[in-house]
Amino acid sequence: MTIGVLALQGSFNEHLKALRKLGVKGVEVRKAEQLEGIGALIIPGGESTAMAKLAEYLNLLPALRKFVKSGKPVWGTCAGLIFLADRADGQKEGGQELVGGIDCKVHRNYFGSQLDSFEVEIPIPVLVAQEGGPETFRGVFIRAPAVVEVGPEVQVLAECRVMPSPNQTNQETVSEKFQPQFPPPPDGKVVVIALRQGNIIGTAFHPELTADTRWHSFFLKMLGESSDSNAVAEDSEDNK
Ligand code: GLN
Repeated sequence: MTIGVLALQGSFNEHLKALRKLGVKGVEVRKAEQLEGIGALIIPGGESTAMAKLAEYLNLLPALRKFVKSGKPVWGTCAGLIFLADRADGQKEGGQELVGGIDCKVHRNYFGSQLDSFEVEIPIPVLVAQEGGPETFRGVFIRAPAVVEVGPEVQVLAECRVMPSPNQTNQETVSEKFQPQFPPPPDGKVVVIALRQGNIIGTAFHPELTADTRWHSFFLKMLGESSDSNAVAEDSEDNK
């Protein structure tokens, strides 16, 4: 089963590299028909408006939406998570196209501008339970989004409490700026930074920019499970 990586813009090469490290050859996806041959899709980080515009220009959005609805595993990192959210905040007037699929609302630049980017160790129990390794995962947040509302079907994989950032910059254009705090302060506000709905996962940070391949391995297992269940479904069709 092949994994496709949407290769319009952003950190698609880094995702392909992480997959290679795990012995898997991913394929670059730029055309609607390329989605037909793959079993799972990664949408990388980058810039979600640019990605949406390119996807629109290439007439990829209907095929991307169909792929997401098919139930095959899809993972979005950062801009990819924004693309997979049903609703987004913090957009310029007129907004941008979203693929959707996760019943949630993201704030596109929740943690501030590029200058407010940061790295932090995040405790992610679901990942550690399955993949082992250190108790935390290095979260690389680059002009990162956060999920500010989730629907009932959404499983929260990681969340953090945030406090207003002490070094706020560019205050005119960014209304909300926060830094996550671990351990969380009791009075902070909770936002979601990793989530799952069915076979779709989203991370507000960039695992592809770290040497730690546990998220990629987690995703490969989702593909393995979904291929198994497809095989079972096909078997039972054959036995009818
Ligand atoms: N906030 C960015 C956007 O709106 C995403 C940043 C990223 O992917 N590093 O697209």
